Amino acid sequence: MVLVLEKLYSGKAKDVITLDDEKVKIVFRNSISAFDGVKVDELKGKGEANCKISKLLFEILNHYGIETHYLKQESKNELICKKVEIIPVESVCRNITAGSFCRRYGVEKGVPFKKPIVELFYKNDELHDPLVTEEVAIRLGWINEKENIIIKAVTLAVNYILVEVFKKIGLILVDFKLEFGRTTDGKLILADEISADTMRLWEENSGEIKDKDRYRKDLGSVVDHYNDIAFRLEQIKELPKIELKTKVRVTIDLKSSVLDPAGDITFRSLLRLGYKQVSKVNIGKSIVISFTSVPGSKLWDVTETISNEILANPLIETYSIDFSFE
Ligand code: UDP
Repeated sequence: MVLVLEKLYSGKAKDVITLDDEKVKIVFRNSISAFDGVKVDELKGKGEANCKISKLLFEILNHYGIETHYLKQESKNELICKKVEIIPVESVCRNITAGSFCRRYGVEKGVPFKKPIVELFYKNDELHDPLVTEEVAIRLGWINEKENIIIKAVTLAVNYILVEVFKKIGLILVDFKLEFGRTTDGKLILADEISADTMRLWEENSGEIKDKDRYRKDLGSVVDHYNDIAFRLEQIKELPKIELKTKVRVTIDLKSSVLDPAGDITFRSLLRLGYKQVSKVNIGKSIVISFTSVPGSKLWDVTETISNEILANPLIETYSIDFSFE
């Protein structure tokens, strides 16, 4: 049987081959580049090392319930993954100042944040992947409101998990980049790679750099360090017990066509008290549910079901959902 390869997409360090309507093969190459492609090289063994790191990290994240595109490893430098439409926004999570954050804001490198920071970047080589606000990403149609909420919460959950996993093998997770994709049935899941090319990892004891900064800064032995990360991840016998908590807030409002006696009484009281600038009062409710699972498309669907069936009356009420993972 002849396998017809429908489509080949070639990126800077990977090829993506469409296998069928549902699956792609991701081939990790040895190419490495930095500074918008100004510095380019081939490093023997880099593809295999990053493929192994990605596979292990996707498996670890799947273990904790994060929805990812990973299906299986095909060969030393190939993964089989679900076919997705990659969204043009990258999510970066930072625990410690480094890289473009220091350049952009003129701050010192190596300063830990009290709480991790999530930033969005527009994937566009010609524009050098600019930082974008959530509002710009939504208003320019790259992501919708729901995807924005899922991306932020999932990024923080991935960070929470990976910080603990790397701590177990003596490494500090400084920052990392994630990409998300839409599946054919409309779910938003983690996609692309999570490897030594897409994160900063420092040795806990010495601060030694283990990631792509070795290449950017000409520190040498890049692949040896990548292999060491893969080796240490493989040695993990038992994954850390991590308490996961996603807070889901459902805000319920009466439809504008529905009478709101409580709102009207409050409105009239405010007028009586002299607040002449008030024109209307609507009283809704806000319900917070804590789940012992990670955020994602699945939890969004669960929340919609609960909201439609239990929390809100769709005849007279509308609702909106928000996630927070702290
Ligand atoms: N990163 C990435 N791809 C990009 C931009 C950044 O994988 O196109 C990763 C990078 O390796 C680092 C994190 O995202 O772990 C934050 O990168 P930063 O914004 O500091 O940019 P850099 O200093 O790498 O240019």
